[in-house]
Amino acid sequence: MTTPPTPPPDEVFDWLDVEAEKRASAGLVRQLRPRPARADELDLAGNDYLGLARDKRVAGASAAAALRWGAGSTGSRLVTGSTELHTELELELARFCGAQAALVFSSGFAANLGAVTALSGSESAIVTDKYIHASLIEGCRLSRADVAAVAHSTPSAIKHALATRRKPRALVVTDSVFSVDGDLAPLDELAGICRSHGAALLVDDAHGFGVLGEGGRGAVHAAGLSGAPDVVTTLTLSKSLGAQGGAVVGPRRVIKHLIDTARSFIFDTALAPASVAAALSALHALKEEPGLAGKVLENAGNLAMSLKAAGLKASVPDAAVISVQAPSAETAVAWAAACAEQGIRVGCFRPPSVPDGISRLRLTARADLTESDVDRAVKVITATAPRGAIA
Ligand code: PMP
Repeated sequence: MTTPPTPPPDEVFDWLDVEAEKRASAGLVRQLRPRPARADELDLAGNDYLGLARDKRVAGASAAAALRWGAGSTGSRLVTGSTELHTELELELARFCGAQAALVFSSGFAANLGAVTALSGSESAIVTDKYIHASLIEGCRLSRADVAAVAHSTPSAIKHALATRRKPRALVVTDSVFSVDGDLAPLDELAGICRSHGAALLVDDAHGFGVLGEGGRGAVHAAGLSGAPDVVTTLTLSKSLGAQGGAVVGPRRVIKHLIDTARSFIFDTALAPASVAAALSALHALKEEPGLAGKVLENAGNLAMSLKAAGLKASVPDAAVISVQAPSAETAVAWAAACAEQGIRVGCFRPPSVPDGISRLRLTARADLTESDVDRAVKVITATAPRGAIA
């Protein structure tokens, strides 16, 4: 083998420009668009499903916690980062979800990484739906387990993979509500399959919590699985709770195991007290106004129905997320930009964020949308639709 030539320092990263050009010609360059503090545009792109991120109680609790405890948490959870607020949030989350215990992480991404890696390993098989969130996929990659990613929403494929596994332990990993199309996993069927094959079930309820189930207790609660000894739920505090951070909710011995072994818990700076306080306050708001969750679903249903009636290829929402198919990555980007120009902020998903290669606008409903917001959004999205988007 010949040694490759040694590039001078200013050429070491030249390959990044080659890659950037490839992305540019495929229409895959991403842009950061800072959001103004007070937007007069209609936000159908964020994940603030209950409109709590700007709620005065929530933002106020966050500010007060920063003043009391400091701007940062000062250390990892096992050193100086745990405050009484963290403990309180863990107790309240567990109680709200009907589980034995909970553990707060610095993000939903970190919670997923930690839970998947700590609950598997070289003696385990992991079986996943192939559309699971990127953070779960990274957890699988780091796990050293045998990983089988099977066809989307196909319980029979999960069953087959479990039945033919070569490892004694097994973990089935799924989103409750899939983040691209907003469709719901068949959780009770999956739980039944797990039980007949001695597998644990890990459900990422990022998009179900606060929206589905009694008073927003989530998809796992709605499926009657919240206190189950073999089910673990992961959450983000950054969507319905309008804050920041993540959590794992489940059996006490699972939580103890995570405290001792989950590397994204142990080696990560604890969630800032201000974010913990915001999540706690949002959880109180959700308890006080259990109707908030139903309102999101109602608004999502109305928005999707109107988009479909206008001829767009909109998904039927099981929760807050609605996707609208675009003819290509380029037209999806231009479509989202045209909507933004007319005051409607929508998300745009394209490869590699879409598992099936179909680019989409991604809309999210909120509890505080009005009928006229929905009408205005549908008008703009339809008027700016590229050729081929309307059936
Ligand atoms: N899981 C799902 C399904 C998500 O959509 C997200 C956020 N996009 C996460 C996990 C990660 O959560 P966080 O943003 O709190 O890291």
